[in-house]
Amino acid sequence: MSDRNIDDLHPFVAEACRLTIADCQAKLGVTVIATSTRRVFEEQEALYAIGRTTHLDCKPVTESKPGHSWHEYALAWDFAPIIGGKAVYGDEKLIQAIAEIGVSHGLRWGGDAGFVTAGIVDGDHFQMTHGLTIEQALTLYQQGGIQAVWNAFEAATPAS
Ligand SMILES: [Zn+2]
Repeated sequence: MSDRNIDDLHPFVAEACRLTIADCQAKLGVTVIATSTRRVFEEQEALYAIGRTTHLDCKPVTESKPGHSWHEYALAWDFAPIIGGKAVYGDEKLIQAIAEIGVSHGLRWGGDAGFVTAGIVDGDHFQMTHGLTIEQALTLYQQGGIQAVWNAFEAATPAS
């Protein structure tokens, strides 16, 4: 089950998400929806265990180790443009236009050069991390739960 509730994101990310969706409607005339927001840590853990330590008759279903997805810290969301009532994937020009709008609201797009260099192209993904690394986030989570990650995220926010 994928959580699509924007309210489950960190408030800064939720705001950027809503502004991006509103701008896509206003500037591109395209409805954009959030297809996945927060992924519960325990869910990712259970998912990662499939084919590894549980359900040994199955193949692994994810390569993302528990704690290694920004969705688990409620700092990422995935999107889809809706045209004619259907989610449209593969329209690169449209995705690029949506990406630019998201970036203008402080989000990092999963298809940018840095992701491509790292060998991870995630064209329907936005995240906001304020310079935290995923390893730092995981360590903070283990020490103090998601609030510890959020505290560090907020502390790193440039004043504006
Ligand atoms: Zn994602």
